[in-house]
Amino acid sequence: MTEGKAGTLLAEHNPLLGLDVARLEKEMESYHTWLDEHADDAYRIAEQARSLGYDPRDYVEIPRASDLAGRTEKLLVEHLEGYEVADDIRDLLQEHDRETTSIMIAQSVSRGFREQGYDLEKSIDVGLRVGLAVLTEAVLVAPLEGISEVRLLNNIDGSQFVSVHFAGPIRAAGGTAQALAVLIADMIRRELNVGHYQPTDPEVERVKEEFGLYRGNLQYRPPPHEIDEIVRACPVMINGESTERIECAGYGNVRNIDEARIRGGVLLVIGEGMCLKAPKIQKHTERLQVPGWDFITKFALRGKESDDASSTAFKSKQVEPITKFMKDIIAGRPVFGGPLQAGGFRLRYGRARPSGLAAASCNTASMLALDDFITIGTQMKIERPGKACAITPCDEAEGPWVILDDGHFIRVDDPASYAKLRTRVKQVWDNGELVIGYGEFMENNKRLVPAGYSVDWWASDVLENLDTEAEVKAFTDLLGQPRSSWPTGAPGLRPEEADDSNEQFLVRCEWHQQLRTIKMDWSTAQTVAKKYATSLTSPHNPWFRDLPIEWVPPLLELLESATLEQGEVTPLDDGIQVEPRACARQMRLSGAVKGWQASALDELAPEVLPDFNAVDIPGTQLLPLPPIFSASFPEGWSLVQHGFPKAAMMLLGLPHVHDGDDLVVLSGWEALLEAFGFGAEGEQPLRKKDAMKVVNDRITTLREAKELLDEERERLSILEKERATIRIASETGARQRGLGITETDQVGRDAAASVVDEGPRDPQGYLAAQRMEDELAVDGILPLVRTLSDFRWEHSAPVRVGCRMGRPEKAAARVMNPMTHSLFPIELNGGNQRLLNNALDKGTIRVQVGRRVCSVCEKESPFIRCHHRAVDEFGEGKAGEACEGRTVPKAAHSKARRRGEVQSIRMAEMVEDARIRLGIDRLPNQVKCMKKLNSKEQTPEPIEKGILRAKHQLPVFRDGTVRYDMSDVPVTHFRP
Ligand SMILES: [Zn+2]
Repeated sequence: MTEGKAGTLLAEHNPLLGLDVARLEKEMESYHTWLDEHADDAYRIAEQARSLGYDPRDYVEIPRASDLAGRTEKLLVEHLEGYEVADDIRDLLQEHDRETTSIMIAQSVSRGFREQGYDLEKSIDVGLRVGLAVLTEAVLVAPLEGISEVRLLNNIDGSQFVSVHFAGPIRAAGGTAQALAVLIADMIRRELNVGHYQPTDPEVERVKEEFGLYRGNLQYRPPPHEIDEIVRACPVMINGESTERIECAGYGNVRNIDEARIRGGVLLVIGEGMCLKAPKIQKHTERLQVPGWDFITKFALRGKESDDASSTAFKSKQVEPITKFMKDIIAGRPVFGGPLQAGGFRLRYGRARPSGLAAASCNTASMLALDDFITIGTQMKIERPGKACAITPCDEAEGPWVILDDGHFIRVDDPASYAKLRTRVKQVWDNGELVIGYGEFMENNKRLVPAGYSVDWWASDVLENLDTEAEVKAFTDLLGQPRSSWPTGAPGLRPEEADDSNEQFLVRCEWHQQLRTIKMDWSTAQTVAKKYATSLTSPHNPWFRDLPIEWVPPLLELLESATLEQGEVTPLDDGIQVEPRACARQMRLSGAVKGWQASALDELAPEVLPDFNAVDIPGTQLLPLPPIFSASFPEGWSLVQHGFPKAAMMLLGLPHVHDGDDLVVLSGWEALLEAFGFGAEGEQPLRKKDAMKVVNDRITTLREAKELLDEERERLSILEKERATIRIASETGARQRGLGITETDQVGRDAAASVVDEGPRDPQGYLAAQRMEDELAVDGILPLVRTLSDFRWEHSAPVRVGCRMGRPEKAAARVMNPMTHSLFPIELNGGNQRLLNNALDKGTIRVQVGRRVCSVCEKESPFIRCHHRAVDEFGEGKAGEACEGRTVPKAAHSKARRRGEVQSIRMAEMVEDARIRLGIDRLPNQVKCMKKLNSKEQTPEPIEKGILRAKHQLPVFRDGTVRYDMSDVPVTHFRP
């Protein structure tokens, strides 16, 4: 398929094909109606309950809004003071995207406030908050708490400018919203004719000092010259509250900045917002033609210029390892694979039947192989596409490759079989496949990396060829299967070309699904591959990339000595399913595992490989050639542990068993022979092509390239040293002459440049050598295989995804520490255990609670509803019957943060009344209360609540809720 054709196909593809859109839309609509109705019900019940007056508020505080516009208005209700914005936002959203809307509505609100007579500060403040709310979809507190205030301050020349004070919670808004908030503030100040910010030198230096001192986590730390540029050019002042303990020593006391301590919000907005999101801001400043933002273009282009300059120079094609996921490793949470490291999960694109956003899937047997550290819902930190993913199961993914205690090397796709084998597994050689949706890469803004030639890819390749019934028949005949065992229709026909596109789409799906499951022997596999120009899938596509080129010459020798026979050795007992299934014929390598011991696997790889001559290596005397590019023998430790033949077969991923001292390869060996120019029909491999010569020629070329590279790298390192020496000398001189830092730096650089770089001795050769080294790293020995065999060979395992365990899955009640049933203070009267019963024994206790007065009997009661006994006609209190009048707060005497005062409470009477009202015979033994209330008002809960929670053994959280936390894997991509 040419690129052009693929391009048009993509453009034509209709994602709704095969879907019953009318039915789905109806279902979605009724689902939404269902949600609305039930939310209405819930609100009705909650309102009813609140109207009883037992809670601090007698209405439900959470506002309901149907859309972004409504949410914005309700979120900012206290700032807007009745000003209506929802309709305006709706109108703007009809025509513009959210970001543009946020700018326009911010300007319009500010203007509106100004026209209504509000002062400038208030007008700018409200407009900015509305803009930020629209940007963040009005679901975050950022518009409320991320901006602490907006001030009008004065430049040196007396002119006014806008200073926006950012606070910590702005972090949640994300870089784009942070950066756009600055732009919005600028657009507003233009609208309202406020001047622009002209920082003094100390104000600029202050920000540099803060970046230098800040120890917190930042995605990007701009270098001083970038900070300089941004602070000087930005038309509004990015200001903020002090968030850190560290004080600036040099520029602590600077005009327009309140305190000497570091302002975390400022660093976030400049680093993660302005610097990293420059392209987003640029898009708007260019479209809206905002003057004064030219500086942002420079940041938006950063990183791109260097590409252009070096387009003629060498560029590596290697997939770079990403180590970020290895940071902050926690003891007890294992690493399942280093960056790109063989043995880790093999990448396969797709979505398993249950999958979700930021979710990946693997075979359940892989979960078992990783010792249950990952299971459904576990979070893994992954190398690509980055950050974390939740794990869901996938039965189509390949399971783990393991070495059993008797040396068997097999793959297990069936979890039940793995469970039976578990005690016999000596080592997990390969984790299996990790299925990741390609959309996850898009979402994370990461480039796609190559995945192996999987059955999905193969099925798609085959399918394209089956465009007539005759072709379909030919295919099923080739497989030796009746036409009736396959779906109807010819899947090769494109849906767009069929009479019924939806129907044809489903035909293709059905075919694809069945094609993915077929298992073929070598002869069928190669016929299909030739006929339909496909590559080969497991088990007929060894992991060629994992086999170092230094291993190939001895491997060829080994293959020459192999015998090919009818299958006799079966891998395992009945009832245990392993993959790939053994073929009718097998390859025997005599004496290949002589002296192999499972116990050798208990030894960890040493820092330095032992001398091969000094240790007993199992099997034959074959050894790989000395390393070409690396310092030590590649895969040397596998060689020491398993001997050459077995290690080679494992690196290639070929299943095998031990038969005495012999190694018997069960499948995939025919493909291996084909790849190296051997025929597999007779009793011994038949050499058809001189692979040894091809490989040795290649190795010679590579060694020459290595020499050239060494020579040039040596020259560069000498050059570097010379320059360093001269630079240091002239910089010392400059310093002694009393020059400043910048000038000294320039003198040093000029001096270094005076040593001329004459370039490599053989520029063309050097470039070619670099390419050769790179190609070997990217493709390994696959180009050799492509030379020796006429098949279409694609990588079977080009990229591994490193990962480690993140959080374990968790499902537990959310409890305070210590566990509590009742938010009622009893100070030390309950003993260590804070038991209500102990406090009861004291009769009356003195605790700090808020002061409230009953609106009925006018006595003081700390509760929302008066707890004093109702009085009968003789003025006597009635047991079990409370006054229950609503109380109101009483003015506090002190100005302390908490409003409570120490008061006496007659516990015995109060609790006895509660018991009678609840209609229970006796109190639960353990009702755990609190020592103190930490809330501002210090209003205790009714004691009944605590008694009931204790009776049902429910803990309470500090906000008065009973909560149960669970891991949340939103399954958004599923097929029932
Ligand atoms: Zn009362």
